[in-house]
Amino acid sequence: MKAIAVIPKKQNSVHLVEMEKPKLDEIKDGRGVLVEVLRVGACGTDREINNGEYGVAPEGFDFLVLGHENFGRVVEGGENVKELQKGDFVVATVRRPRGSSIYDKIGEQDFTTDDKYYERGISRIHGYMAEFYVESADFLIKIPPAIAEIAVLLEPLSIIEKGLKQAGDIQERLKIWHPKTAAVLGTGNVGLLTVMALRLRGYEVHGFGKQARQGYLNAELCEAIGATYDSTDDLSIADSTKNYGEYDLIFEATGYSPIIFDAMQSLNENGILILASVTGGKRTTDGVPSDVINQKFVLGNRAMVGTVNANREHFEMGVKDLALCEAMYAGWLARMLTHKVEGLENYAQVFEILNNAGEYKAIKAYFEVNKI
Ligand code: BGC
Repeated sequence: MKAIAVIPKKQNSVHLVEMEKPKLDEIKDGRGVLVEVLRVGACGTDREINNGEYGVAPEGFDFLVLGHENFGRVVEGGENVKELQKGDFVVATVRRPRGSSIYDKIGEQDFTTDDKYYERGISRIHGYMAEFYVESADFLIKIPPAIAEIAVLLEPLSIIEKGLKQAGDIQERLKIWHPKTAAVLGTGNVGLLTVMALRLRGYEVHGFGKQARQGYLNAELCEAIGATYDSTDDLSIADSTKNYGEYDLIFEATGYSPIIFDAMQSLNENGILILASVTGGKRTTDGVPSDVINQKFVLGNRAMVGTVNANREHFEMGVKDLALCEAMYAGWLARMLTHKVEGLENYAQVFEILNNAGEYKAIKAYFEVNKI
C-alpha cells in the first residue's frame, strides 16, 4: 500500500513509500481492527516534522509515516472486537500508553511524564497517511454517519476539548465560576474550532488573528457563529480589554509565544489562560512587564495551564460538539475544509498548501485517500 513518510530531522524529506498492508494479527489479543483510511488532515505539526524540527521514526525504521488527523472505515475486526462492525466510521486517537510513567499505566498517556512519547504519525509510531492501518479497538472512536463529512476535524478538536476540560477541572478550586467572556488567540483551524466549542458553551467569544479582517474567511467564520474578529495588527490583546473587558478564559493557539505575555495581562480575576501551541523554535521575548504580570496573577488568583494531546474521553466530547455544531450552525464546519487533495500520491500539493497557507487562504488541507 501507499503511504507518505519523512526522514525525521531532515528538512523537506516528505516522500511516497510502498509498504505492506498491515494485518489484524499485529494486535495480539483479538482486539485488532483493520481500517481503510478515508481522509487525513494536515496541520502545523506535519509541517514542522517535514521541516526537520520535530518527529521521531519508529524503532528499526529510518522513516516515519506521517499523519495524525484521521478518519476511516472499519474493514475487519478481531474476534474480541464487539463494539465495532465492518463499515463503521472511526477516528483513532494519537498517543499510545507505551511509556513507563504511572500515567501510561493507568491509560492517561496524554499526561505522560516520560520524555519519550509514542504518537502515531509524530513520534515513534507510523501514522495514518496510508491506505490502511491496524489499531486496537481501545483507541478507536466510533463516528455517527451524520458527521462523516466533517469528522476529519475531530482530532484537532480533541486537543481543544482536553484544554477546556483541564480548565474546568482547575476552576473547581473556585466554589462558583460562571465564565462569560473568552478570547481565542489564533484563528487557524485550532483557533476556529475553539471559537466554536466556546460558542456552544455560551461564551461571548472574541477571536484574534494576524490577518486583516477584510476578505478573511476565518474572520467571517468567527462572525458567522456570533464571535468577533480583530486583527492584532490593529488591536493588541491587552488593548482589546478596553473594548471587551478582561477575559474569564483565554485559549492560545497562535504558535507565536510572545503573545502569551500579552494574554497574561488580559485575564480577569480568577480567570484561566490555556496554552496549546507547540513552539519548537528558540524565540526569546524582551521587555516583558514581569512585575505587572506576576502581581496580577497573585492578587487576582489567576491561573495558566499548558495542555497537549487528548485522551479517549476528549475525542468523545468532540464527537458531541461536532454533532451539536452541525445542529446549531449547519454547514459551518464544512466551510473549514477548504482544500481537499485527492490521492496520497499528491502529497507535494498538500505540503505546498501547508507551507503557504496564507496565500492559499487555507484553513484545513486534507487528503481524500478513499471516498466516503
Ligand atoms: C497533535 C497531538 C500531539 C501534539 C504533540 C499535535 O499536533 O494533535 O496529538 O500530542 O501535536 O506532538
